[in-house]
Amino acid sequence: MPDVSSLRAALLDWYDAHARSLPWRAPPGSGMRTDPYRVWLSEVMLQQTTVPHAAPYFERFTARWPTVSDLAAVEDSDLMAAWAGLGYYARARNLLACARAVANEHGGVFPDSEAALLALPGVGAYTAAAVAAIAFDRPANVVDGNVERVMSRLFAVQTPLPAARPELKRLAALFVSDERPGDWPQALMDLGSGVCRPKSPSCELCPLAFGCEGLKTGEPARYPLKVKKAERPHRLGHAFVLRDGEGRIGLVRRPDKGLLGGMVGLPTSDWSATPDFMAPVDADWVEVGAVEHVFTHFSLTLTVHVGTGGGDFLWTEAEDALASLPTVFRKALERGLAGQ
Ligand code: SF4
Repeated sequence: MPDVSSLRAALLDWYDAHARSLPWRAPPGSGMRTDPYRVWLSEVMLQQTTVPHAAPYFERFTARWPTVSDLAAVEDSDLMAAWAGLGYYARARNLLACARAVANEHGGVFPDSEAALLALPGVGAYTAAAVAAIAFDRPANVVDGNVERVMSRLFAVQTPLPAARPELKRLAALFVSDERPGDWPQALMDLGSGVCRPKSPSCELCPLAFGCEGLKTGEPARYPLKVKKAERPHRLGHAFVLRDGEGRIGLVRRPDKGLLGGMVGLPTSDWSATPDFMAPVDADWVEVGAVEHVFTHFSLTLTVHVGTGGGDFLWTEAEDALASLPTVFRKALERGLAGQ
C-alpha cells in the first residue's frame, strides 16, 4: 500500500506550484477562503460541463447576481434564460430552490457543515463535501469520477466499476486530514483533469508516480477496471423462401411464446449452435447465401434456401411480405429473392 502521508505531501507541493487559476478559486496557501456561494455555483455548473465552458457562465452569473440572496430573488424565467447552454434544466431549478432556501431559511449565509449543506435542496453528497472543504476548510471526502480514477490507479484497485465505488471512497478517505483540507480536493481535481487523465495519463509529470501501484503494472490507463460486457452467443439457423406457382411467398405464424412470438415470418429451422435442416416441405432446395442479424441476447447467421412448392402456408405477395416482415426475415427474403 502506498504511503499516504508522503503522497499527500507530494501532491500539495505540486498544487502549490501548478494550481490552475480558476475564477472561483482562492490561490493555494493564500489563507483566503473562497465565498461558499461561488464554490457552490461553480460545482453545480461543473457537474455537467467542462471548466472552459462553465467559466464564462460563472463570470456572468456572479456579475449579475453577486450574492446568493441576489440569485434567490431572480425570476425563474430569467434564471432559465441565463442557464441556457448549460443543459439539464432540472439542475437550474434546483439551483434556484437551493438559493432561496439559503436566503430564506439561513439568512443568506450558507451553512458551514457538510451535514447542513446536504440538507439543502438539490445538494448531493459530492457538492456538500466540496463546499464544506473548499469554502469552509472542513475535512471532507470529496469524491467524483476524477478522484475515483486517481484512487483506482494509485492503488491498482482490482475490483471493477461500479462495484469498486465504496472501496474507492474508502481509499480517498485515507487522505482526508485537518491539514489544508480545502486545498486537498482541489489538488486532486487538478491532478485528475490535467495529469491523471482518463485515456492518457501523463505519469512522467505526476507527483504521485513514486508511489503509484497502477504505474508499476505498466498499464495505468487500464484503471479503473470495468466489467466486461458478456459476449453475445452466436447461433445458426436455416431460413426457407418457398414460392408457389404464382410466385407468392409461403409464410408461417410463429408460436405465441418465444422470440418474435405471434409474428408472421419465413419458415426456419431451430436457431442453435447445430441446427437441424428441418425444411417445411420437400422441395429442391437451393442454398443462396446467408444473412446476419443481431438480437439483444444473441447474434444469428441464417443460411437461406429457396425452393418451389405448395402446402398450408400464409401465401403472400413478395412485395407485401417485404413490407411487413420483421427485419430478420426481411433480410432473409431479400437474399432469397436476389439469389433466385
Ligand atoms: S502515476 Fe500516472 S496513473 Fe499514477 S496517479 Fe500519476 S498520472 Fe495517474
